[in-house]
Amino acid sequence: KQKQQKQQGGSKKGEAKAITPKSEDFSRWYLDVVRECQLADYGPVRGTMVIRPYGYAIWEGVQTHLDKAFKETGHQNAYFPQLIPLSFLQKEADHVEGFAPELALVTQGGGKELEEPLVVRPTSETIVNHMFAQWVQSYRDLPLLINQWANVHRWEMRTRPFVRTLEFLWQEGHTAHATPEEAEEETIRMLRIYEDFAWNVAAMPVVAGRKSRIESFAGANCTYTIEAMMGDRRALQAGTSHNLGDNFAKAFGTRYLDEAGQLQFVHQSSWGVSTRMVGGIIMTHGDDAGLRLPPRLAPIQVVIVPIIKKDVDASGVTAAVAALETALKAAGGRVKVDASTDKTPGWKFNQYEMKGVPLRVEVGPRDVEQGTCVAARRDVRGKEGKQMGVPLEPQAFVAYAQGLLDEIQAGMLAQAKEFRDSNIVDVGSYAELQAAVAEGKWARGPWAGCDDDERRVKEETSATLRCFPFEQPQHSGVCFMTGQPATEPGSRPYKRTAAQARGAKNITTGFSSFA
Ligand code: AMP
Repeated sequence: KQKQQKQQGGSKKGEAKAITPKSEDFSRWYLDVVRECQLADYGPVRGTMVIRPYGYAIWEGVQTHLDKAFKETGHQNAYFPQLIPLSFLQKEADHVEGFAPELALVTQGGGKELEEPLVVRPTSETIVNHMFAQWVQSYRDLPLLINQWANVHRWEMRTRPFVRTLEFLWQEGHTAHATPEEAEEETIRMLRIYEDFAWNVAAMPVVAGRKSRIESFAGANCTYTIEAMMGDRRALQAGTSHNLGDNFAKAFGTRYLDEAGQLQFVHQSSWGVSTRMVGGIIMTHGDDAGLRLPPRLAPIQVVIVPIIKKDVDASGVTAAVAALETALKAAGGRVKVDASTDKTPGWKFNQYEMKGVPLRVEVGPRDVEQGTCVAARRDVRGKEGKQMGVPLEPQAFVAYAQGLLDEIQAGMLAQAKEFRDSNIVDVGSYAELQAAVAEGKWARGPWAGCDDDERRVKEETSATLRCFPFEQPQHSGVCFMTGQPATEPGSRPYKRTAAQARGAKNITTGFSSFA
């Protein structure tokens, strides 16, 4: 019966049955949402995707917020070429080792074998440093704060639309500073911008912290991350910020004359958020009916559906709807009026529910007579989420909609946070970690293990060390794995920056989440 309903594109009640229930198969649910909401399609090459307009509009929302935050903190956008000589990557040993398995190479051009293979950029630290080495002469040229919006290629083996694709869109920040302290400060500043965006715009209650050595970026001294919990309780690395130290500066000779006339290497950061964020939003908030978009990111915040019956004068409804649309737009709202006549109101309600539009408004002839309309919120489905008698007078309506959208935004964050917190278990032993992970939860506990301990946990439980959170709860301070004091060594990055060596406050205690 279900199959039949799927073929018909919906059940009697109009539920979007083309979407597998989340609880039945989360992975299928995700792919169904991506397809049915027309967010993306598969490209002809394995692992590539076509981002469709509605999916791209969500990405544009991410871009708008982040770009503004980058510019407010003094960064400028620029663009570097996509093709990079292979020799550039080979200049930084850790970098090329880390990225080698994921590189796409161009070996021919114009029908001829190239003298040197070209890498289709997996990231741009090398080419950026090639240019920074030419742009930076003296301390007066620093800090150099650049961001690029671009596509990158990584030859991933297991792929999923948005989450992990061969080609993805992202922004990559690249900065150069006079001192290690400034580079560290910048690395943290940008991670905090991601964290703020995730919480306050995407309504994703991410955990911010530092990556273990094993999970750090190839070529970085230290990687910071925001980790998000998806609806299936799996962790998603939603953005990263790297302290590169002077590793690339040494490889490329990026130096400046300091005030005393001495040549010094610059200290650098790089940071990125990708189209993976769109996948994160889908998997944090979606439900059985489809997408649920936080109002601050939703391409359509309010959809207005005029209820027009055949042979009934619709001019009153049309005028009232137009007035609402104008007022909402004037207030900066993203609004759509769906007055199409080839679809029933019920069909439209289901469509916009599936597409996650936070607020739906219905206006019919009787509403107009009474000076009211009907509002239905997406975050609370069914009768409870529906309110009759909402004022139709445009200014009063705008005030109502603004208040409700704020409430929805806050409610979605609170719901996601409650879900996250109820699925994190504080553990005091390896057995407790194993039990938590077996239940599909995140484990959190004091950690002073070495790389091999981390690998062992991964092999035996398939859980990975996600991060050493900045904000640490009360804990015993004794590593649940080794019984050692859970402070630095175990959680130390490859090479400590000067700031860390002085005992930077965020990272004195190893305390990790596994998921
Ligand atoms: P990285 O510079 O390698 O730390 O990457 C920056 C961010 O890009 C990561 O934190 C991920 O969120 C995202 N990312 C990495 N690989 C992929 C991929 N294959 N597809 C989509 N997003 C990715």
